[in-house]
Amino acid sequence: MVLGGRAAPPGTLRAMTTTQLPPASDADLAVLQAQLGRVPRGVVGIAARCVCGNPTVVATSPRLDDGSPFPTFYYLTHPAATAAMSVLEAGHVMKEFQDELAEDDDLRAAYLAAHEAYLRDRAAYGEPEEIAGISAGGMPTRVKCLHALAGHSLAAGPGVNPIGDRALARGTWSPERCVCETPGAGG
Ligand SMILES: [Zn+2]
Repeated sequence: MVLGGRAAPPGTLRAMTTTQLPPASDADLAVLQAQLGRVPRGVVGIAARCVCGNPTVVATSPRLDDGSPFPTFYYLTHPAATAAMSVLEAGHVMKEFQDELAEDDDLRAAYLAAHEAYLRDRAAYGEPEEIAGISAGGMPTRVKCLHALAGHSLAAGPGVNPIGDRALARGTWSPERCVCETPGAGG
């Protein structure tokens, strides 16, 4: 069984914003370390997974053990996913999305709602005042990091973050097709 992310049945895990994720297992932490090339910090859970079960998005405490605030609650860790987003960023897709935001009132409203959803999810783990109202990826008005926005989309499921959804749709990577170096190592 795959917990978290898109595999969660609709209306269960994600509907309750105060619900915390199950703790990451030692196997998950080992996969994260391999993906990131460093010991992951402040892990509070795995927010999304590849179809094979490996983590794709880690949820990080808004305050790290050393006391520093950390706004990026949903962090994209899968190397193929991050590479796919980097390709889009290099291809000036962020400007395209930014222009789309400027022209589309409904999209702007949905992006603001995504920002608010992100802050609600993070607040279940604390609300450091240094990062109050600050989410990630440029939300709620700018498009500054497709990795962060795609991470939110993977964690929340489709229909929550419209720019993250667009980025995932445009990219070559998908959580539905495993390209992990070591499939099924997490969980
Ligand atoms: Zn996989």
